[in-house]
Amino acid sequence: MTTTVRFAPSPTGFIHIGNSRTALFNWLYAKKRGGRFILRFDDTDLARSKREFADQIEADLAWLGIAPDRIERQSARFDAYDAAAEKLKQAGLLYACYETPEELERRRRIRLQRRLPPVYGREALKLSEAEKAQFEAEERKPHWRFLLPNFESDPAETRRTEIQWNDIVRGDETVDLASLSDPVLIREDGTYLYTLPSVVDDIDMGVTDVIRGDDHITNTGAQIALFRALGVEPPAFGHHNLLTTSTGEGLSKRTGALSIKSLCEDGIEPMAVASLATLIGTSEAVSAVPGMDDLTAGFDITRSSRSAAKFDPAELLVLNRALLRDMPFEAAKERLVALGVSGERAEPFWLAIRGNIEKLSDAKDWWSIVTAGPRRPVDFSDDDREFVRTAFELLPSEPWDHGTWKVWTEVVKAQTGRKGKALFAPLRLALTGVPSGPELADLLPLLGREGTLARRP
Ligand code: GLU
Repeated sequence: MTTTVRFAPSPTGFIHIGNSRTALFNWLYAKKRGGRFILRFDDTDLARSKREFADQIEADLAWLGIAPDRIERQSARFDAYDAAAEKLKQAGLLYACYETPEELERRRRIRLQRRLPPVYGREALKLSEAEKAQFEAEERKPHWRFLLPNFESDPAETRRTEIQWNDIVRGDETVDLASLSDPVLIREDGTYLYTLPSVVDDIDMGVTDVIRGDDHITNTGAQIALFRALGVEPPAFGHHNLLTTSTGEGLSKRTGALSIKSLCEDGIEPMAVASLATLIGTSEAVSAVPGMDDLTAGFDITRSSRSAAKFDPAELLVLNRALLRDMPFEAAKERLVALGVSGERAEPFWLAIRGNIEKLSDAKDWWSIVTAGPRRPVDFSDDDREFVRTAFELLPSEPWDHGTWKVWTEVVKAQTGRKGKALFAPLRLALTGVPSGPELADLLPLLGREGTLARRP
């Protein structure tokens, strides 16, 4: 059977680097197995789901290098959920409940006082037809709960019922269904919570492997029971650890913090995000992986740790620098053209500066320095100005190449007696206007003799 995975965000905000970890885990897992990747929008919450968020998620995935084989929206599939709900009702596995949130809270407190687990006590199952008719007459709308199979014959007598699975990431996992409340599948207003639609979709779309965050482990217990109640053997499940900030806070879609969109706008390379989101919190060292194929080749889902993965956004910049430092000209070319960097000098320019930039857009500043000179006139001391003028008189004749810098500075050194910093720092300042940057041996041929002389103070 073809491995089929899905990434199922609800389009209620921008996805962040933690969500991208789930997307990447699914994508890499599928790629490794020649499988298929479905992007499924969990948009049953019509009020909070927005098309603009869904479109942005598609754009974010494309930016990361993830190309879904299929895109589905839950909002287009209500008929399928209605049919499944009807089937469960017919089987007596989906039952109407009329409690208000206050009533439920009161009962929960009583159970806690009696040292009973604070789960729903299935009181609604005991309602008589007359009582239900009375509620209907009062126009009280029911919510609907799935009857978990955690009892022998009397639902009021629950007993330990282990749901076990061999988790793709974590190994053997167990959830005791007696520790859970019967999950609400349908709200009072008739809308579906995530639990049932997800299972129906996974069945209808032939999902073979459900890979998601470990905040869903308990859900998995209930959902496996739901698959079986619908007469289908459940897929395989894998739960990866979540990302938290360095202070241990979870990431939230709502705050927009570390959203993929904002990282892209900030000039972070997609492979910096993909490398960090995939490798952090695993037994692999985090390194800047240049492309998705390399990331796929080295990916092993079982290597992620069980505990939450703390990550420091500053690491993205470290990875960014490393990716740029090794980025071939061909990979940068089009983006450089968009920054105005083109022509014969573009390639040697890129090779000269790529090791000295944090973001690709920094190339623009260096291009301006190379083509137009320092941003503002350099404020030399009288001594240094004299020295630079003398040095400029000693410039060799063209053609120039990488060796020209050495030839020139040797002559300058011999003539002026200056060496080390006193020799190099004023020359660097005269040529670039800034105290540090790319190798001058690389920059000098880009400036040419004429360009260099134009910088004479
Ligand atoms: N919409 C759910 C979430 O974002 C999907 C969970 C799942 O993958 O089943 O948490």
